[in-house]
Amino acid sequence: MAQADCIIVGSGIAGLATALALRQNGLSVTIIERQSIGREASWAGGGIVCPLYGWRYPEPVMRLAALGMAAYPQFIETLGALSAIDPEYHPSGMLILDPYSQEDQPTEILDWASRHQITAELTAARRHFPHLSEREALWLPAIHNTRNPRLLQALTDAVTRAGVQLVEQTAVQNILVENKQVTGVKTAAGTLLAPRVLVTAGAWSGSFTPGLTPTTVFPVRGQMLRFDHAPANGLSTILMEDGVYLIPRCDGSVIVGSTVEHVGFDKHTTDEAIQRLHRKAIALWPNLAHAPVTHQWAGLRPSTADEIPYLGAHPEIKGLFIGTGFYRNGLAMAPAVAALMTELILSRPLSVDLSPYRVNRPVAPRT
Ligand SMILES: Cc1cc2nc3c(=O)[nH]c(=O)nc-3n(C[C@H](O)[C@H](O)[C@H](O)COP(=O)(O)OP(=O)(O)OC[C@H]3O[C@@H](n4cnc5c(N)ncnc54)[C@H](O)[C@@H]3O)c2cc1C
Repeated sequence: MAQADCIIVGSGIAGLATALALRQNGLSVTIIERQSIGREASWAGGGIVCPLYGWRYPEPVMRLAALGMAAYPQFIETLGALSAIDPEYHPSGMLILDPYSQEDQPTEILDWASRHQITAELTAARRHFPHLSEREALWLPAIHNTRNPRLLQALTDAVTRAGVQLVEQTAVQNILVENKQVTGVKTAAGTLLAPRVLVTAGAWSGSFTPGLTPTTVFPVRGQMLRFDHAPANGLSTILMEDGVYLIPRCDGSVIVGSTVEHVGFDKHTTDEAIQRLHRKAIALWPNLAHAPVTHQWAGLRPSTADEIPYLGAHPEIKGLFIGTGFYRNGLAMAPAVAALMTELILSRPLSVDLSPYRVNRPVAPRT
């Protein structure tokens, strides 16, 4: 007998947000997680609710991210009604120093912002930070950030209260299929049956999902550090230069990231990267010079060769759905992913054409 209408494999933000949406649409849902709930990329991330240098991404990435960004206020409100844990979602804004690479034109950046309804202004950095004289900058005043561990805790609380069943410390080994119809999953602890299975297993999805391989979905390490609780540091906005960002949290702590490293499933931090981030953070915001660094960590972003997620129904196996490969933008995309997966799983008309995200697309690596 089926244990649930839908089994979700993996409890990152994609799995949890979709579980909540499915449950609110009347489905019984079981999430299976190989370790503790929500402790991988979604926990490790920076929590910026917008892609970095979004105009450089392929359009399908930005489309999903923009939908997610627009849906965030409602998503946070829904969580607030179900959980007392505050995810600290707040409009810090983001200032990007020297936003141009060789190919970027100012008009291209402003067109990107207006296409996606993102308020943007090309400005002098010193208007926001007097010590950064003579620097050009892009100011995005409406960009929010949220505190990942708290968001994940709020979501876990919300799905539990909504009646989603959570099975932890249980790795899925195989997707079970009979006559091209999914029937459940096999784990070390036994078999769980369901007519629908959604794989949201992040960077690990390629190891057990039909149609994916460890080379089509793979980990990209990002290292982070945190200057703890420095209320007097005065940083109120996300500040970014050359891919390194400083994110102010509500309690005065500042998160600094990140690296982009192809080192397999290795989640260690390295002295060299942490020292580089530390130096860069103090150069950008000297008030941090005496703030203690209390945490450093790394997470594994689930990437694909073209940096476009895999999102959709399996082309040959009925009842199997896939949502992975969110790379650097999975937090921003999450409410949109949850809404689209719900439409798909409930066979409703789709509000977005999912063909750019299909599992069997030809993938050209980004240059
Ligand atoms: C350093 C860093 C900074 C980031 N900053 C941002 C940002 O500012 N904004 C943004 O939008 N995005 C950011 N990201 C990206 C974002 O965090 C990811 O895209 C997103 O978290 C992916 O979510 P997910 O649910 O797909 O995967 P994950 O959060 O990795 O969750 C997958 C889950 O599946 C479980 N799992 C794996 N295999 C199995 C199995 N066989 N059986 C059962 N469970 C399994 C894992 O244990 C894990 O809990 C950042 C990522 C990193 C690492």
